[in-house]
Amino acid sequence: MNNGIVYLVGAGPGDPSLITVRGVECLRRAEVVVYDYLANEQLLCHAPGTAERIYAGKVGGRHNQGQDEINNLLVAKAGAGKIVVRLKGGDPFVFGRGGEECEALRDAGIPFEVVPGVTAAIGASAYSGIPLTHRDITASVAFVTGQEGKDKFESNIDWDRLSLGGGTVVFYMGITTLRRNMQRLIEHGRAAETPVALVRWATTACQQVLVGTLADIADRAEESGFKPPAITIVGEVVSLREKLQWYDTRPLCGKKILVTRAAEQAGEFSAKLAARGASVLECPTIRLVEPESWQLLDLAIRELPEYDWLILTSANAVRYFFQRLDMLGLDARAVAGCRVCVVGPKTADEMRSYGVKADLIPTDYKAEGVVKEFSRLDMQGSRVLFPRADKARDIIPQELKRLGAHVDSPVAYRNIFPDRLPPETLFALEKRSVDCITFTSSSTVQNLAAMLGEELMHDMLKGVAVASIGPITSKTCRDLGLKVDIEPQSYTMDALVAALETYFA
Ligand code: SAH
Repeated sequence: MNNGIVYLVGAGPGDPSLITVRGVECLRRAEVVVYDYLANEQLLCHAPGTAERIYAGKVGGRHNQGQDEINNLLVAKAGAGKIVVRLKGGDPFVFGRGGEECEALRDAGIPFEVVPGVTAAIGASAYSGIPLTHRDITASVAFVTGQEGKDKFESNIDWDRLSLGGGTVVFYMGITTLRRNMQRLIEHGRAAETPVALVRWATTACQQVLVGTLADIADRAEESGFKPPAITIVGEVVSLREKLQWYDTRPLCGKKILVTRAAEQAGEFSAKLAARGASVLECPTIRLVEPESWQLLDLAIRELPEYDWLILTSANAVRYFFQRLDMLGLDARAVAGCRVCVVGPKTADEMRSYGVKADLIPTDYKAEGVVKEFSRLDMQGSRVLFPRADKARDIIPQELKRLGAHVDSPVAYRNIFPDRLPPETLFALEKRSVDCITFTSSSTVQNLAAMLGEELMHDMLKGVAVASIGPITSKTCRDLGLKVDIEPQSYTMDALVAALETYFA
């Protein structure tokens, strides 16, 4: 049976969290994703890694692929039995040519489903604080193409009706034709002082809003070099923005912040910055790799039944340990005879994902806390396996040995620094568009210096504010020739976020 189907999915206006739940469900099942210029590429992360990704972008009329080609592609892929997601910016049926694609699919007998999206006008309205209707101001709104006369929508616009009556008018694709369209509204009777807002890259960290009137917005746009893609909102409702704007008044709005991260611990910090309006670039400065040799770990794994305790102090250690078990043809049953100690709730969760519940989870996450728990037990003569990172501190094996245990601590993975920065980070630094870089441990600074070389690091960070989590990290910064601009009183992530807010206020 042929399961081929096309889901026309609205990607929403830009902010990747504005896609619908149904849209994400479709992406998760996709075997082929055909996506547009205006659909945020970050959404592709919802599709399986194996899904074929095809860019069918159109940039300001320069069509990378003609509409017929796209239609044929959808028919061919779904006809071959594939689950195809056609991901389109905003909503598929609002100036999205979704109608034409559905017609082609219907003609070819291919089943399809349409998943609506938040269209750009609605996204721009919400994120600029301009309600499109308001009980006291207007009860109607029209979505209009700004390209009237240029393509198929030719002269379907009734300028008289649009101009009279005071309803809100929202133009799509209306920046290059802004002057002409504003003039038309005035000529057909709308007051020249009617407020107008242009909202560019609405709902994204680069959102720009320009406010003026029908009479002067085109001049203002020209003066400030305002470019597409943008939505034009015309009507008295625009004046509500002064009171209702919220998105661009957040404390870190418009700031590009580079978060140098030790593997896997930056997510929460980045999310806090993003919630305050920052545009966050994550820059991993630590990479995990296999040990130079598996010999010692393999030996220990073969002797697992002889061990009394297995200690794993990080989610990474759990992952590498179980991956190695798997490689050796074993599974969780191999640790059935040992008691298991893990450090921290994340490690415990990871352990549980392999079907093993920990017997001991020390309340204090530091190595000292682990030792304290074991000092309450009789460890004399017991055998302990402690697979760990190459650069881990020696406290646990040393102290357990003092308690009389035999401890083996083979290396299960190594921490190294990646050989290069992610391309988007490098690009942002070269363009001098980064406002601030954050360091949350000495190794993040040291590794960045090692990756770039000290000289290049100084050069790239010219004009970039340096934020450090505390005195030790700050000292490392200074030792490497960096001036620290931001350091919180207490060294927690929350305090660092607050210090950033104060700095940029
Ligand atoms: N189907 C899309 C519209 C595609 S037409 C939707 O429903 O939103 C392309 C036009 O949409 C652009 O010229 C611009 O006017 C508008 N647009 C799309 N995304 C936008 C964004 N993030 N910010 C401002 N305008 C946007």
